[in-house]
Amino acid sequence: MSRRIIPVADVSAVPVVSGPVQTPSGVLRDTLSRPLRDLRISVTDRCNFRCVYCMPRAVFDKDYGFLPHSALLSFEEIERLARLFVAHGVEKIRLTGGEPLLRKNLEFLIERLARLTTPDGRPLDLTLTTNGSLLARKARSLKDAGLTRVTVSLDAIDDALFRRMNDADFAVGDVLEGIAGAQAAGLAPLKVNMVVKRGTNDTEVVPMARHFKGSGTILRFIEYMDVGTSNGWNMAEVLPSAEVVARIAEHFPLVPLEAHSAAETAQRWGYADGSGEIGVISSVTRAFCGSCTRARLSTEGKLYLCLFASAGHDLRALMRNGSSDAEIASALAHIWQARGDRYSELRGSNAIAPHSPEERRVEMSYIGG
Ligand code: SAM
Ligand code: SF4
Ligand code: SF4
Repeated sequence: MSRRIIPVADVSAVPVVSGPVQTPSGVLRDTLSRPLRDLRISVTDRCNFRCVYCMPRAVFDKDYGFLPHSALLSFEEIERLARLFVAHGVEKIRLTGGEPLLRKNLEFLIERLARLTTPDGRPLDLTLTTNGSLLARKARSLKDAGLTRVTVSLDAIDDALFRRMNDADFAVGDVLEGIAGAQAAGLAPLKVNMVVKRGTNDTEVVPMARHFKGSGTILRFIEYMDVGTSNGWNMAEVLPSAEVVARIAEHFPLVPLEAHSAAETAQRWGYADGSGEIGVISSVTRAFCGSCTRARLSTEGKLYLCLFASAGHDLRALMRNGSSDAEIASALAHIWQARGDRYSELRGSNAIAPHSPEERRVEMSYIGG
């Protein structure tokens, strides 16, 4: 049987722009006036799960060409870039992957990043998204290294369904132990993200809400997105957030809560009995491109300005060809100032069609969530 090979990353990184030298001022704005505030850094493209919507086993199998170690940014390189991003206004860094806890000695990177401060001297919000499988073991050392918070992905509370979704036979109990470990280590407030795929795990919406209600953990429901090209996305499999809220409200009355900030991606709802809150992230039905202040750095050092971009800017090449900090900082400024991406908004307004399977898109496991 012939196997379809889907490229995980872009093959033609766009060239890094040049122009008049720009020194960081702490604020960069793109063409839609959006500042650069958040940086997601993917530290590995590998994962011990094979979530059906992210790294389907049929594509990410034993023959799959994951990046060789030499292609990965080193901790020194990541720290160097992070420092320049922070000088341009980044206040929040999230480590992701693949599964970030698979990257060896990740604590050393966290220690380095935790020492960075914003231009006006504040510490960064330094966080990490994990599938939780290794968290029970690592929570304490991550906290000691300077991690502020953690977000755990969990798509079902039913063990059999969870095992089917991660397609690697991990038990839900492992992740719950990780969550408990993170709470005990003080990595708070802890958030749990559930991607909802209609027909696959939407029956878990209410059981998940019931499980985490009153636990101090903030459960957030994410609409299944058309990221990458390998998950075979289909709009019929998206459960709109409005329906998630309606289903939960049938069991537990909810009241809307104010957003913490204009850039917040989740809409917050509180349990009417005061026992905590949930969030919904409506990436498909209610695009939030207008307040998207996020840049993404891939495992091999390509900078993506949008989750749906098909090409990245090769920052690793800049570093490895001997560019100075000033040159790289200036390149970052030019790249962000030229940014006009707003894919979800355009898809939502039907200005563009959701991508076709033939179109190359960067994969979630390569760029991070
Ligand atoms: N492995 C880690 C984890 O699962 O938390 C970090 C990387 S994972 C790519 C980051 C987040 O992206 C996870 O919460 C995952 O559920 C989410 N994700 C992956 N594919 C998605 C999709 N097609 N739609 C919505 N969220 C997705
Ligand atoms: Fe791995 Fe996270 Fe993707 Fe699941 S969502 S396959 S845990 S990277
Ligand atoms: Fe940001 Fe792109 Fe997502 Fe819009 S589609 S919110 S610009 S990442």
